[in-house]
Amino acid sequence: MAASIGVRLFCVFRRPDHLCLLKSKLVNAAQTRLIQVFQKYTPGMQINVDVHQCCDILHHLKLNQSGRGFMSMPTGKYLHSCEALPERICWKCGRSIDPYLELFFCKCGVVQTPADINFFKLMGLKESFDVDVANLSHMLIDLQKRLHPDKYQNKSDTEKELAEKQSSLINKAYTTLSKPLPRAIYLLDLHNHSITEEEEVRNLEFLNEIMELNEALAEATQVEEVDSLEKKVLEQLELTLKKMSEAFRRHDYKSAKPNVVKYQYYINVRDKIKQYYRQLMI
Ligand SMILES: [Zn+2]
Repeated sequence: MAASIGVRLFCVFRRPDHLCLLKSKLVNAAQTRLIQVFQKYTPGMQINVDVHQCCDILHHLKLNQSGRGFMSMPTGKYLHSCEALPERICWKCGRSIDPYLELFFCKCGVVQTPADINFFKLMGLKESFDVDVANLSHMLIDLQKRLHPDKYQNKSDTEKELAEKQSSLINKAYTTLSKPLPRAIYLLDLHNHSITEEEEVRNLEFLNEIMELNEALAEATQVEEVDSLEKKVLEQLELTLKKMSEAFRRHDYKSAKPNVVKYQYYINVRDKIKQYYRQLMI
């Protein structure tokens, strides 16, 4: 029997000596270790794990301290990039801090300066359009608790300021990554395929469709008419999201881009429809 190891499983090595396996240089060691563990718990299965899959699994699996089993992971924690993060030094105690585990706080307990890394790395996520939003929300809540101003009342001005900076940065990262549209725009920006004004109006046939939707909405006199427009827009949103997602999965940013533009237009129409429903309730 062969096993295809699903990305739904959760795994993070909890001990620091295991965590270091996540660093790019040692990812092969992590791969070997994973295969050993899988073979132990699923005897008879043939396990193939490639390095990238291995990173996925490391993101999503958790071994207990003795490596004797799997546990689900409540918050995801902050150590998921296979790419090495830059070395950093704690501004307070001067030690070299673990770029994955001490991204926000040094072990000495002091909040750190925000790292100059993209939002995916900041939130401990693999750079992908398919984000586990529930996991992202857990991370946000967990971090915001630790960065809450109440915890800094008796701390130095520097610490207060750093906590505020970290807090606003993770809020921004969450806002960007938690919804498909800003996440898609961010991914395009990261890969030098930013949406420009000219591109937005290039597809005239599509713009006509949007114009017609807007006109139909403006002229609608019955709720049923708006209901049917909403249905149409939601279907288009779903379809466009699927196309966007598929293109991002193939790292085909050129194909993703026109779909992101379309998605943006449909979202605008959907927002107007929402506004219409809100006014009905007043
Ligand atoms: Zn320190």
